[in-house]
Amino acid sequence: MSRSVLITGGNRGIGYSTVRAFIDRGDRVAFTHRTESASFDLVHDGALPLYCDVTDPEEVESAFKEAEASQGPVEVLVANAGITRDNLLPFMSEEDFATVLDTNLTASYRLAKRAVRGMLKARRGRIILVSSAVALKGEAGQTNYAASKAGLIGFGRSLAREIGSRGITVNIVAPGLTDTAMAAALPEERVAKIIGDVPLGRIGNPEEIASAIAFLASEEASYITGAVIPVDGGISMGH
Ligand code: NDP
Repeated sequence: MSRSVLITGGNRGIGYSTVRAFIDRGDRVAFTHRTESASFDLVHDGALPLYCDVTDPEEVESAFKEAEASQGPVEVLVANAGITRDNLLPFMSEEDFATVLDTNLTASYRLAKRAVRGMLKARRGRIILVSSAVALKGEAGQTNYAASKAGLIGFGRSLAREIGSRGITVNIVAPGLTDTAMAAALPEERVAKIIGDVPLGRIGNPEEIASAIAFLASEEASYITGAVIPVDGGISMGH
């Protein structure tokens, strides 16, 4: 059965692979982008591009309206858009702390709140929040990022309890270091050190994160809610 899916940050990286995974399953997929042009091949394959900065409530509202008009009420929300602004705490500005929290956590609250409106009416829905292994194990230089991603776990689990009785599941995917622009921005030595701590001994690829997200949205995952699924080559084990 084809569903109406909305994925934030779908133009590249993990979001891009996630859009692909849902297209491949035959769903009707909308994705947000902030750059002037949306990914040509996703649009070519039928996905709906929505210009939207998730930190702007009006743009989020417009994106939902456009998605609803084109493909019906959102049945699956993937809150994937996220940023880093790394620094050691003594050097971390108020702005870098607040911007990361706004983009990664507050925007996910905004998106989930808007999505839940239609899901409550339909008495079904799937919400997947993209967190990080760093939320579980911490990382020097990422106090802002880890706080935002750990916040998603508390947020998602609380929401799962609120709306489980209405047939809506809320789950959290926690990727480890994944081969996208976000990882490419890290110094080589830091990447090598992280990989050294990964039991599987390598960086993840975006398709591996996308399959976990697609699984959580699938019928096969109908009895899973409030779960945190690490997709991290084993780095967060035991945390
Ligand atoms: P990328 O940097 O490749 O992509 C980030 C995506 O988020 C882009 O599509 C970007 O949109 C979008 N985005 C950022 N800020 C906003 C905003 N204000 N409004 C709308 N969209 C926004 O990163 P990844 O694909 O790696 O990251 C995807 C998610 O996975 C993030 O939440 C990240 O924290 C998480 N993650 C990534 C890991 C990694 O190692 N790569 C590890 C753990 C978690 P645009 O293209 O317009 O800039």
